[in-house]
Parts: sequence; C-alpha cells; structure tokens
Amino acid sequence: MINKNGWLTEAEIIPSSNFDQRPENTEVKLIVIHNISLPPENFESENIKKLFTNQLDFDSHEYFKEIKDLKVSSHFLLDRRGKIFQFVSVFERAWHAGISTFNNEENCNDFSLGIELIGSDTTKFSKDQYDSLKWLINTLKSFFPEIKSSNVVGHSDIAPGRKTDPGPFFDWTKIS
Ligand SMILES: [Zn+2]
Repeated sequence: MINKNGWLTEAEIIPSSNFDQRPENTEVKLIVIHNISLPPENFESENIKKLFTNQLDFDSHEYFKEIKDLKVSSHFLLDRRGKIFQFVSVFERAWHAGISTFNNEENCNDFSLGIELIGSDTTKFSKDQYDSLKWLINTLKSFFPEIKSSNVVGHSDIAPGRKTDPGPFFDWTKIS
C-alpha cells in the first residue's frame, strides 16, 4: 500500500536527498526498470544504498572513481531476495533515467517511477525478484491508473544506445 506521503508500507524506507519536485500537474504514467550492481557484478545492496544516499566512499574501490560524485537515486530497489527498499516518495522526482525519451516526451524522470533490480547484464534475475517486482508493479498501477501495461519499460528502451539495462537476462514474460 502507498501511504499519503507516497511511501510503500511494505518497503524498508531509506530516505535519499537525491530528488526534487516533478513539474506541476505531471501525471505519473511510466515505470522504468533498471539493473544495478556496485561494483559491477557484486550483488550486495550496501554500496547501492550508500550511493543513493550520498554516503559512498568513492575512494574505497577502484571502480567507484568512474562514478565519483554521481548524484542519483531511484524510487525502489529490489535485492536478490526480492526485498524492497524505497529511497524517494512516489510523488517526488527521483534521478534514475537521465537523458531519455518515451513516446516523444523527454526527461522521463519527470513522469516516471524507477525500479532498480540488483543484477547485471550477464546474470539471470531471481524468482524472488520477479515475484516482488510483479507485485510492486501491480501496486503502483492501481495507485497511478495512467501507468498502462505498455508503460512499463526498460532503461534501454528510453535511452537506447546509452543504456543497456535491465539487459538480455531480464525476462519480460515473467512480469506480464
Ligand atoms: Zn538504468
């Protein structure tokens, strides 16, 4: 259930300051699915939580230098067991999509919700993640009726050539 402040009651809440307001009178109508692992292929959640809350020590791993001072967030993160974390209220604009276009509309962050799955372009996602994701998408669709089934897309669909996630191992039939 989404509460009146836009937080999912079933999620563990980890508030991020990486958000701002959606433009006035914007209907939320899109869900963007991502994959993330930090460093790449590490499927623990700690570094991701730190990244989304600006607590990641960018000197603690060689790879982190490539993302130094990156300020990003997502509304939701699903770990490998399907546990849901929420960083930004669904009413606010999280910073997950970057330069992007959906149906000729730019800046998808304005009108979308971001869901990150811990994983990568080289590995299958877990059954727990699909179960949890399917439930989450249905919950969000009932809350925001403008999110039609065709409005659940991958990051690579709205930023082709720039982004590849959720990647070839993401099985769309498991959430339809
Ligand atoms: Zn992405």
